[in-house]
Amino acid sequence: MIDELSLKKAVSAFETLLRGQTERAEKMKENAEPIDFSKIQKTVVGIIGGDGIGPLIVSSAEKVLRKLLFDEIARGSVELKNIEGLTIENRLNKGESVPEEVLCEIKKCHVLLKGPTTTPKGGTGAKELESANVTLRRELDLFSNVRPVCVPEKGIDWTFFRENTEGEYVLGSRGVEAGELCCDFKVTTVEGTKRIARAAYEFARKNGKKRVTVVTKANIMKKTDGMFARICREVGEDYPEIETEDRYVDIMAAEMISEKTQSHFEVILAPNLYGDILTDEAAQIQGGVGTAGSANTGAKYAMFEAIHGSAPRMIEEGLGDYANPESILEATKMLLCHIGRNEKAKKLADAMKKCGEDPKNKVTGDRNGITCIEYTEKLLKLL
Ligand code: NAD
Repeated sequence: MIDELSLKKAVSAFETLLRGQTERAEKMKENAEPIDFSKIQKTVVGIIGGDGIGPLIVSSAEKVLRKLLFDEIARGSVELKNIEGLTIENRLNKGESVPEEVLCEIKKCHVLLKGPTTTPKGGTGAKELESANVTLRRELDLFSNVRPVCVPEKGIDWTFFRENTEGEYVLGSRGVEAGELCCDFKVTTVEGTKRIARAAYEFARKNGKKRVTVVTKANIMKKTDGMFARICREVGEDYPEIETEDRYVDIMAAEMISEKTQSHFEVILAPNLYGDILTDEAAQIQGGVGTAGSANTGAKYAMFEAIHGSAPRMIEEGLGDYANPESILEATKMLLCHIGRNEKAKKLADAMKKCGEDPKNKVTGDRNGITCIEYTEKLLKLL
């Protein structure tokens, strides 16, 4: 049972959250100017190793970037800047999900290439810490999470647009405990939904896509998901050449593994949590989470990373060296396109394709495949 004092405290905590979220929604209306990379003298790329398998796969991507951008780095038009301190040890020690001095360094960069970071699990009695990604996405306002998945032989060419700053994540570390009851909150705003929907439809238009599938659970989460689905449809009306359709997340998860329906989907637009889960499923269909990269973009900053986490189990089992760097290399391709180095991205894509044609070059995540370092050496020779 809940006593009166706990109830009052919980109601007051909820009021604080509502006020904070209203402020956040208002701020979204102040549009930052997007960067025109063709006009800036020096593009600064921040490199963050992260935890677990992160430093290893990120060092593979850094070597690739240094080779591809050798002339530009020498000329000073691109700087690769290593950012230290975004490790679970330092974060726990400081009690900050992204320590202030690290955030300060991050904000001096135009784009980031980031390794996965560990987040302590709730409910274990361990010190609670917000996910570094949630903090970074909020601090840098990286509202759009784009995750491509492609399996040509199955007719799969999916691009996921996952809303990245709202839903269950924004207040995930600020739930309320009242006696024997716990409440977490899910937040959807009109502005937050409009901007991710706009990004998805713009992408669809520019890339000749014919269909946007909006994925929610609006039959159950009537307010948040109901609004997300409605706003997406409204935005979709500005793109009459593109069909908008709806799916509930459960059937979407099923249809994604059915050969009958896989080729039906093109652009998939989803709130934060469903986007997170569905993209891991999609990556698994492509060959594993170690093969998929993602772009977190906002009006000002952008951060590129693998879709997976720090893989502590791989480290515990002594398999860390076998981590697949393709995930972060896919993200590196996206980073290069984002900063306008499309021909370098193409060079990397061609080299990865060529490397993958030889079955001996497969990184499987275990001793059946080659190591991350071996793959990187082979790839560097092809660049
Ligand atoms: P995970 O994605 O880290 O790993 C799950 C499994 O996927 C691994 O055991 C391994 O079998 C496989 N795998 C992952 N990356 C691989 C790679 N590059 N090559 C080959 N196989 C790979 O998921 P988890 O164990 O649920 O999460 C571990 C930690 O990572 C948690 O603390 C979680 O919060 C965090 N996390 C961080 C991010 C991020 O920083 N973007 C994303 C997801 C999870």
